[in-house]
Amino acid sequence: MGLTHQVIRTFSRADKKRSGGSFLTAVFFFLILVGWGCRSEVSPPRSVILISLDTLRADHLGAYGYARPTSPNLDALAASGVVFEMALAQASSTLPSHRSLFRSRLPSRAEAPTPTLAEVVAQNGLTTAAFTGGGNVSTAFGFDRGFETYVDDPRGFGESFDDIEIWIRTHAQDRFMLFLHTYDIHLPYDPPAPYRDQFGADYDGQINGRKTLDALRRERGFKGYRNQGSEPELEEADRAKIIDLYDGGILYTDTFIERLRLLLRELELLDETALVVFSDHGEEFWEHGSVLHSHTLYQELIHVPLIFSFPGHWAAGERIETPVQLLDVAPTVLDLLRIPIPKTFEGRSLLGLIRGEEAEPRGIASEIRNLSSRVEYPWKLIEEQRGEITVRALFNLETDPFETRDVLKERRDVGERMSAGLNGEVQDGANAFVPSVDFEGVEPALREQLEALGYVEDERPASSAPERP
Ligand SMILES: [Zn+2]
Repeated sequence: MGLTHQVIRTFSRADKKRSGGSFLTAVFFFLILVGWGCRSEVSPPRSVILISLDTLRADHLGAYGYARPTSPNLDALAASGVVFEMALAQASSTLPSHRSLFRSRLPSRAEAPTPTLAEVVAQNGLTTAAFTGGGNVSTAFGFDRGFETYVDDPRGFGESFDDIEIWIRTHAQDRFMLFLHTYDIHLPYDPPAPYRDQFGADYDGQINGRKTLDALRRERGFKGYRNQGSEPELEEADRAKIIDLYDGGILYTDTFIERLRLLLRELELLDETALVVFSDHGEEFWEHGSVLHSHTLYQELIHVPLIFSFPGHWAAGERIETPVQLLDVAPTVLDLLRIPIPKTFEGRSLLGLIRGEEAEPRGIASEIRNLSSRVEYPWKLIEEQRGEITVRALFNLETDPFETRDVLKERRDVGERMSAGLNGEVQDGANAFVPSVDFEGVEPALREQLEALGYVEDERPASSAPERP
């Protein structure tokens, strides 16, 4: 504060020499200094709410440049907070991605019982609760570790949000970490009216309700769903409607962001609560010849939104280009709460980047099944293990953001360096293979829910790197 007063005094003296306007200039500089002070010394939030919007690819949000109005409330949140423009998921599937996030460890190293974010937060005195869509983030897979309350509710926010609201009202006086998760954007892309007709309202074809799921399973070539010739092939209009429905689901889910904001405002918690919005993976719409997720590590599946909002404490509308990863979420939350970060966490706090500090360059790895990838922007290497053979592809995300041209032959030096880096990060052999869904030992009701979400067992090998002789 001493510096601030000094500056105001200096400007007051200057006032006497110049006429008019200088007082306003002083106020302006005072506000800048106050803003700068808050930016460097973020006081800890009282509570944190993590919001996982399952299957939301970054580039379908206005805040990430999408032309369609799918996300007015998320965009407003982004405008009042910090947007990480290049946030990468560690896996392209729900279970390994969330497990990786909560343990801040790569999926192939996240099986071991290391501390979870919820356990550490609970040990430090915060109340912990989660309301999730169940399925691949259910209690059955151990996601309740560290949570005092963990609710698996497959009905979606439309039905479950009343319970979420009751919980927040009941715990308004507590310090808490709340984890919210929904499959409302996920297959079968069946949002309620009017959202299902929000985009592509004049479509009159085969795609609607449960049929969407079957059409996409055929499109993906899942076992038992391969097109036998009796089902109509998808036409351009059908494909467009599938994306329309996905976007309608985003717009529907976006309304709950506003409902949450209004609730926090009513309870006077808005300025004391940090919100972290992300997705566990994206979704493919034929960019690399297929649909859905869990099968590749291309950007449409691992580039996810990541937005931190803590109104009144950070410069609004900050956008950070430096690539970050979902592994960084847990250490950032702990850093924000001034809780020491466990040594087992592999990610790093993003508060330095938010304060405008330079970050050490690093590679960002992702894994799914027999695939692994590493991004050292602008380079991205994808490796596929086919038995004893490793197939590689290298892309330049700056000049080729849609990963259409493998440049490994031209840039062997980069490929070899990145491959060595990847091998240093990802375990060799079978342990590195991260299954997308493990059906073993799953209760029948949960299995039914997983199947309704499109997770039928797909025994075909994953293929991400281009075919090569
Ligand atoms: Zn998911």
